[in-house]
Amino acid sequence: LNRRLAEFGTTIFAEMSALAVRTGSINLGQGFPDADGPEEVREAAVRALRDGRGNQYPPGPGIPELRTAVTAHQERFYGHLGLSYDPDTEVLVTAGATEAIAASLLALVEPGDEVIALEPYYDSYAACIAMAGGQRVPVTLRAQPESGSYRLDLDELRDAVTDDTRLILLNTPHNPTGTVLSREELAEIARLACERNLLVITDEVYEHLVFEGEHLPLASFPGMRERTLTISSAGKTFSFTGWKVGWVTAPPELIAAVRSAKQFLTYVSAGPFQYAVAEALALPDSYFTGLRDDLRAKRDVLSAGLAGAGFQVFRPTGTYFITTDIRPLGAVLSKEGDGFAFCRALPERAGVVAIPNAVFYDHKDQGAPFVRFAFCKSVDVLEEAAGRLKALA
Ligand code: PMP
Ligand code: GLN
Repeated sequence: LNRRLAEFGTTIFAEMSALAVRTGSINLGQGFPDADGPEEVREAAVRALRDGRGNQYPPGPGIPELRTAVTAHQERFYGHLGLSYDPDTEVLVTAGATEAIAASLLALVEPGDEVIALEPYYDSYAACIAMAGGQRVPVTLRAQPESGSYRLDLDELRDAVTDDTRLILLNTPHNPTGTVLSREELAEIARLACERNLLVITDEVYEHLVFEGEHLPLASFPGMRERTLTISSAGKTFSFTGWKVGWVTAPPELIAAVRSAKQFLTYVSAGPFQYAVAEALALPDSYFTGLRDDLRAKRDVLSAGLAGAGFQVFRPTGTYFITTDIRPLGAVLSKEGDGFAFCRALPERAGVVAIPNAVFYDHKDQGAPFVRFAFCKSVDVLEEAAGRLKALA
């Protein structure tokens, strides 16, 4: 393994999902729903396979039907904010959001460039910045125990920008904290990006999972369309994480750059699933609000369960993750607030798997006592997990 990747080892998701299988535990670690997405979307994939649509290499940028569906979806949900893209030149279909992130960084970062990412950050960010030869510069979202939320210190963000900063890699709604950046925070980030002439890659895969208020795409802020690459994915919005269909929207020059990298990573992405996702993106509004309302109710079930079991809960306003602080559980259970040790022992102790947030931090000490639980599971499963955790105390 080369020096760029040596520090990363095996992803925590693979490690913890394997542990869940080995111990027969309830897996609230890796974020994937326990129920597949809509039947008609599955049928659409079967039809495409059967009719021979997409069984041979689809076009490099993605099939026109999906690119058009992506832009129509953007206009439906964000047209009132002035956001609109050209399906021919401003959309690239990728193998999940993961490839969109990798290809964007590989295309845009020069060796030595600094990339600012909000810490805790989704684990592929650090590895992809490293593969691109960039230097990651974490800006820490600060836990606010009094309000059960996280706060971005805008002065800290401003101070992190140097002459070597190439771009900001943003994520809202934010995994793992469940934070949704506010209009004011986004406006300030936009101002900073314009002032310092930075690009922004914004990972908005949880765009439809905002439980209070509305999702505001960063690209819709003044001066941002021309410098923003927006990433999303069918995995989250349609509950098909195994299909690996994602996309990037951005101005033509940026899309062309990302495509240059993508063509040598995967060349194209799975054909039949693209046809199915094109149909999924045209589902009525009620599908999208239904998904959000269902997950909001599940958030409430698991938040209450975790609080009842003695965790301090950071109540998420978006995503399907809850971050908790384990320290209130006491020194014996929480091993002095070591989330790693807690998560490694939890399957044997309680038959539940969770993710230690420290893996998402450069400042491990900042992340140590925090543990993430996924709530994209049936209510019965969430209640069973909460019951098992309560029995720990
Ligand atoms: N970004 C974030 C913030 C995520 O939580 C995830 C994954 N689950 C991804 C990207 C990757 O998405 P995909 O499965 O579409 O590659
Ligand atoms: N994004 C999901 C999570 O955060 C799963 C990611 C993965 O397995 N790579 O849990």
